[in-house]
Amino acid sequence: MRKIIVQKFGGTSVADTEKIKNVAKTVIREKENGNDVVVVVSAMGHTTDYLVKMAHDLAPNPSGREMDMLLSTGEGVSIALLAIAIQAAGYEAVSFNAMQVGIMTENVHSKARIVDIKTEKLRKNLNEGKIIVVAGFQGVTEDGEITTLGRGGSDTSAVALAAALNAERCDIYTDVEGVYTTDPRVVPNASRLKEISYEEMLELAHAGANVLHPRSVETAKQFNVPLRVRSSFKLDNLGTLIVGVDKMEIYKPVAGVAADSSQARIVVCDVPDKPGSAATIFSKLAKENISVDMIIQSYPRKISNTNDIAFTIDSSDLAKTIATLDGIKADLNCGEIKVDDNIAKVSIVGAGMIDRPGIASTMFETLAEQGINIRMISTSEIKISCLVDKDKAQQAVKALHKVFELECDEVAEVKGTLPDV
Ligand code: ADP
Ligand code: ASP
Ligand code: MG
Repeated sequence: MRKIIVQKFGGTSVADTEKIKNVAKTVIREKENGNDVVVVVSAMGHTTDYLVKMAHDLAPNPSGREMDMLLSTGEGVSIALLAIAIQAAGYEAVSFNAMQVGIMTENVHSKARIVDIKTEKLRKNLNEGKIIVVAGFQGVTEDGEITTLGRGGSDTSAVALAAALNAERCDIYTDVEGVYTTDPRVVPNASRLKEISYEEMLELAHAGANVLHPRSVETAKQFNVPLRVRSSFKLDNLGTLIVGVDKMEIYKPVAGVAADSSQARIVVCDVPDKPGSAATIFSKLAKENISVDMIIQSYPRKISNTNDIAFTIDSSDLAKTIATLDGIKADLNCGEIKVDDNIAKVSIVGAGMIDRPGIASTMFETLAEQGINIRMISTSEIKISCLVDKDKAQQAVKALHKVFELECDEVAEVKGTLPDV
């Protein structure tokens, strides 16, 4: 039986027609290797950012449904153009959007999870020898409503398709040559990792390393999809393989450093110190589909018998979070609700830090030497995160990257530019 390879190309890789022609060549090369190919593409260049900006020019808080209708159009353009480019090179290709394939999601806008992928149409077209081009990032509900998977979600579309089709491999082609010890745009001499475990990659992705969408890593781990991140511009470079932790040799305690500047901190002050207070806050937020990251509850004050509950959320959920908390303020009988979005989360990640004392203290000392104040701390077995002022995030990343000896002598090549919207 022929093997199925899923390839995914991000926005920079399909930014203009010249680049789309190049992508077509890479796709055809895989087909010529004797494999069946399913290609997933993102919207061209910074299209999604421009679409978001246009919507926000019209309304401060546009409806989730219409945002998904709008943002899903970006991928609609790139799939058709890539199919046209492949056909022009003499190969049979067909493009499908999520509705045509049946990429079924939950009924949630802007960050829907995939629940099922229909494979009949895909298999039929592969059996006919066609290269299939599928729109990333989008899904459809049972009621036929268009959804999107969250920013950067095309990675998840690709891995989910690879899992559904039992593909041999999922290759994520992007504008850097793999997964680095930190964002090479911030630290140019960051080192490329030959391999990284699913667990570490998942923590790094959640911590802000947007080279992979967190749910793509989660899905790859769950369904054992061999996943590779590689450059769409330097094809001979094999990039980074994401593997099971048992297959890895761990020599450094810290595998990578990441920063996430898209967080906001909320403090609910003077919450009555009694059973049910935290449950009221977080169950209401969960009902609104708002994910909470770090949480700290202060020691109760003796006289008032209240405490403060501080937590972080993604800033895109800020307006919804404030509205939700305002709605329960009276019931909760709490005090002021303070908001601070001038913060960033800086994290170090590494399976090698398990049972190795001193990693946290090195992190805190390094931040202290840089004069960076830590506002909140959270840890997992393989991650330590500190909340710092937003304007100190890059300085913190550089210092931590250095102290944990993650640099190399080479300077990473980074294609594409950051959006100017
Ligand atoms: P695409 O459009 O191909 O999906 P993204 O912009 O989503 O590309 O992801 C690639 C970018 O991720 C890189 O250009 C880089 O700036 C950033 N990045 C952040 N952390 C890392 C990391 N640890 N390794 C590699 N790239 C990283
Ligand atoms: N086009 C979408 C975005 O910019 C999805 C993706 O690129 O993965 O977020
Ligand atoms: Mg991406």
